[in-house]
Amino acid sequence: MLQANLLSLFWEGFVVQGWEAPDEQSLIVTLAACGVGVCSGCGERVGAVHDTTWRRVRERDLLGRRVGLRVPVRRVKCPSCGVHVERVAWLAGQRALTRGLIAWIEILVHLLPIKQVAALVGVHWHTVKAIDKARLRRDVPVPDYSQVRRLIMDEFALFKGHRYATVVICAATQAVLWIGEGRSRQAIRPFFKALGSACAQIEAVAMDMNSAFDLEVRAHCPRAEIVYDLFHVIAKYGRDVIDRVRVDQANALRDQRPARRVIKRSRWLLRNPENLTDEQAVRLDELLAANAPLATVHVLKAQLKELWFAASAEIAQLGSTPLARTHPSNALLTATAIPTTSS
Ligand SMILES: [Zn+2]
Repeated sequence: MLQANLLSLFWEGFVVQGWEAPDEQSLIVTLAACGVGVCSGCGERVGAVHDTTWRRVRERDLLGRRVGLRVPVRRVKCPSCGVHVERVAWLAGQRALTRGLIAWIEILVHLLPIKQVAALVGVHWHTVKAIDKARLRRDVPVPDYSQVRRLIMDEFALFKGHRYATVVICAATQAVLWIGEGRSRQAIRPFFKALGSACAQIEAVAMDMNSAFDLEVRAHCPRAEIVYDLFHVIAKYGRDVIDRVRVDQANALRDQRPARRVIKRSRWLLRNPENLTDEQAVRLDELLAANAPLATVHVLKAQLKELWFAASAEIAQLGSTPLARTHPSNALLTATAIPTTSS
């Protein structure tokens, strides 16, 4: 009779005693213990029962129904340990979820955001979050700082930009080495404390030009070169140089309305020359042909990008075209944005 009880497959040491379906989405299964309990202290089988407590736990859904289990958990009178709760292999400590449901949530958090997993499985957001956190603690190895030579530091927004956090990545492996709240020198100091003697072996650190990271890196890593990365420098160039020149040019054409409008609407064209339609590319060409200052900053942007692909610092400093050598901005660009080539 017990062998015929299919559902007993799933809950070792228990059989199904009864079930009820309070509505069309739910199933509540009542279990009964079979066999003697195992002491959770020493792992011995103990026949003497001290008392029994009914626990309610969530199990994985079954054929579209949310499944709740009613489980009679015994405390046994162990000769070695005294009164101890019995060991139930498929219960996860005091958690109100079975190990099977937790394993299922661990699979889902790989595929979906926490909010969607919580809705799909029918458990609280915080519960899913705690399971994901425990999984990460268990599965993600502690970073090995001893092999790290080059770092990437960046900030990212928390809570829609009201607060910031900093992430430090190993440039060679892309492994996340550290995350901390804030983006000030003080906020990132704990990372260098954790890095300890490995600070001396850091050769280069890539970062945004706007950050305070460079001062803190210099304070801790005497050998490290600061590298301003391509993405951040080009974005800064767009904001501080191209936008400035564009606004000045538009203002200078105050009396020539149509020409002024063309320049005022050119922001996107100048920002994304790689992603233009044929028609937009023609508009950009016409704009650059008609406005020398905008044409100059546009060419300089292309040359600025080339710095990151130069074979050496010397070649980058020479510049690849006559314009780069003769233009007064050249000195500024090379002084601020030479990437490291120490290898
Ligand atoms: Zn025991």
